[in-house]
Amino acid sequence: MNLKKYFTKKSGLWGQNESHVKAVDDVSFSIKRGETLGLVGESGCGKSTTGRTLMKLYEPTAGQILFDGVDIAPFKEKEMMPYRKRMQMVFQDPYASLNSRMTIADIIGEAIDTHHIAKGTEKNEIIHGLLERVGLMKDHASRYPHEFSGGQRQRIGIARALAVQPEFVICDEPISALDVSIQAQVVNMLEDLQEEMGLTYLFIAHDLSMVKHISNRIGVMYLGKMVEIGESDELYANPAHPYTKALLSAIPIPDPIKAKTQSRILLEGDVPSPLNPPSGCRFRTRCGYCMKVCAEIEPPVTDLGNGHQVACHLYNQ
Ligand code: SF4
Ligand code: MG
Repeated sequence: MNLKKYFTKKSGLWGQNESHVKAVDDVSFSIKRGETLGLVGESGCGKSTTGRTLMKLYEPTAGQILFDGVDIAPFKEKEMMPYRKRMQMVFQDPYASLNSRMTIADIIGEAIDTHHIAKGTEKNEIIHGLLERVGLMKDHASRYPHEFSGGQRQRIGIARALAVQPEFVICDEPISALDVSIQAQVVNMLEDLQEEMGLTYLFIAHDLSMVKHISNRIGVMYLGKMVEIGESDELYANPAHPYTKALLSAIPIPDPIKAKTQSRILLEGDVPSPLNPPSGCRFRTRCGYCMKVCAEIEPPVTDLGNGHQVACHLYNQ
């Protein structure tokens, strides 16, 4: 709720000039138990920062983080411990997120130890079971990360996240670094695991095609703001925000006849710096519908029905 994460950047000879990077700026959304919320947007839009702030890997600047009705935003590390077990993260880069000097058994076992889940043979059985569940083999436990392919490492990362039997898993671009041929396998596995373990996911991706299949609802972020959120099917069928429309039109259509008639909205230029975002609507520098009001007033959130919300003056009567 109203989540903000600003990073302070010091400049000047003595660091006397402070500026704030508004990475996440007043973002509110909810995720229902057992569902998958997809979070999309170009890089630098604040998706990962949102995920990390929810996990309290970053201290929120302002706002609430309600987990099962409890606001964990002000919690210190000790109070966070039980929640650390309930929420886990799968990272984008399976190369960087596994310690190269630890065996797979140690990597997965570390979380089991931290949360005092099991010891000795019981712990080994859990590790072996997890490896088999993610499509690897028991005897992979004694090997090191470099002996595995990217897809296998991501499976290890998923096994590690699931070792503590979490309820909520934030998947931060878990398939972006993988070969296209492997992406679908990992997504399917995540879906199966969700069903078996009753997991709730926040699934972060930079393009809409990656989250379409797995998400019940999708949120679109632009420059630290949530610009649109809604049921996946509704968002694909009736995208409201010009940015969502542009992201959707960037997905290639396999059918050549349909592709010809598809109007492409090109996104020109880069995302402006979050240090100095445009006034009013942050998307206005790249929006083909920009009006006078867009530079003056930040667009309020308009409810289009069925939980479909958009922040754009075109819908603000
Ligand atoms: Fe475009 Fe204005 Fe809507 Fe922003 S508020 S997306 S600039 S029409
Ligand atoms: Mg990211």
